[in-house]
Amino acid sequence: MTKTIAILGSTGSIGTSALKVIDALGSDYRVAALTGHNNIDLLAEQIRRYKPQVAAVSNPDNYRRLADLVKGQNVIVSAGPQALEDIAVMADIDIVLTAVVGLAGLSPTLAAIKAGKTVAVANKEPFVVAGKIMMEAAEKNGATILPVDSEHSAVFQCLHSGNAGEVARLVLTASGGPFRCANEREIENAAIEDALSHPTWNMGKKITIDSATMMNKALEVIEACWLFDMPVEKIDVLVHPESIVHSMVEFVDGSVIAQMSPPDMTLPIQYALTYPRRLAGISPRLKLEDIGMLSFAKPDLLKFPAVRLGFEVAKLNGTAGAVFNAANEAAVEEFLRGRIRFGSIVRLIESCLEKHDFRADVSLEELLVADEWARQ
Ligand code: NDP
Ligand code: MG
Repeated sequence: MTKTIAILGSTGSIGTSALKVIDALGSDYRVAALTGHNNIDLLAEQIRRYKPQVAAVSNPDNYRRLADLVKGQNVIVSAGPQALEDIAVMADIDIVLTAVVGLAGLSPTLAAIKAGKTVAVANKEPFVVAGKIMMEAAEKNGATILPVDSEHSAVFQCLHSGNAGEVARLVLTASGGPFRCANEREIENAAIEDALSHPTWNMGKKITIDSATMMNKALEVIEACWLFDMPVEKIDVLVHPESIVHSMVEFVDGSVIAQMSPPDMTLPIQYALTYPRRLAGISPRLKLEDIGMLSFAKPDLLKFPAVRLGFEVAKLNGTAGAVFNAANEAAVEEFLRGRIRFGSIVRLIESCLEKHDFRADVSLEELLVADEWARQ
């Protein structure tokens, strides 16, 4: 049976890797829908090559250009954020891969979940903001949520070694980012180009900055709590600069299962698309003899306070995740525009968390109000 796939955010780092994975998987997997935001030339090229039934551009200002570029192609083109939601619920889509960046992915992800789809989740921010609502909707509507984030894919694979009640601890690994060995002064004044040069992973700009502040790990701790229904007390973070062990699960008998592969997103993307099967694909092979040594250390919470904040937010839930995520999205944007220092990113997030009027039990609308407040 052919599986039809919608890629929300096909023009990004995850989106383009997913298309390479699908190329290699052959005719059992078909691209049925693609979406982009500003990279219209690439989206048009992808439409000509993969011939999806539908395509959408979330930024409506780009609609005319896209429509002109794909004139004569047998594709229905739409525009605006609602267009992504419409794609996410299309009857003939089996798998929705969420590869949009930031909270913009929330409404289409939730729509896909409510439609009972198989949702391959790369876009972590919606789970940080509204994980409870997402997971309750998945349960209610029979949606299957499969992690694409490499750490969560690793945990998911390791969890197959035991039952849920036998898990003692999840250990999320972190590369430590480009400033792992930098001192506090160097981190405070880090240049944009240095923050954007990640030692092991090649990713979109926002997550690359998140890796440099280690906000990415903080977001991932919260993401893991929701995806695996795990109390934050059972989650640890270890810095592992080689990025070979993507995460581990410790079981009650003391056995620790780790998932290893070279740092390349094609493997977790493919596993989410082919699950529960494993197929030969394009992912590079691991040669431990070439790597020689793997190292692990506790994160330095003084140099990287984001990690500490992530654990605190995961304990709080309620509006804390929305404020944490929104402050980060806004601060990263300001940093990339050259308006604030690198060190200000996490300081701004912490001060937003301190100032905000925390509410424990909240609706989606209230979460979006908290999000907007923090952005302002
Ligand atoms: P990119 O910035 O490379 O790609 C983002 C995608 O989202 C692009 O297709 C972009 O369109 C689109 N987009 C941008 N803004 C909007 C918007 N407002 N509405 C709808 N679509 C929009 O990001 P990544 O691929 O690196 O990351 C995507 C998600 O996956 C993030 O949540 C990230 O945290 C997560 N992730 C990424 C990993 C990676 O290796 N890259 C690893 C694990 C998780 P366009 O380019 O056309 O403007
Ligand atoms: Mg990750």
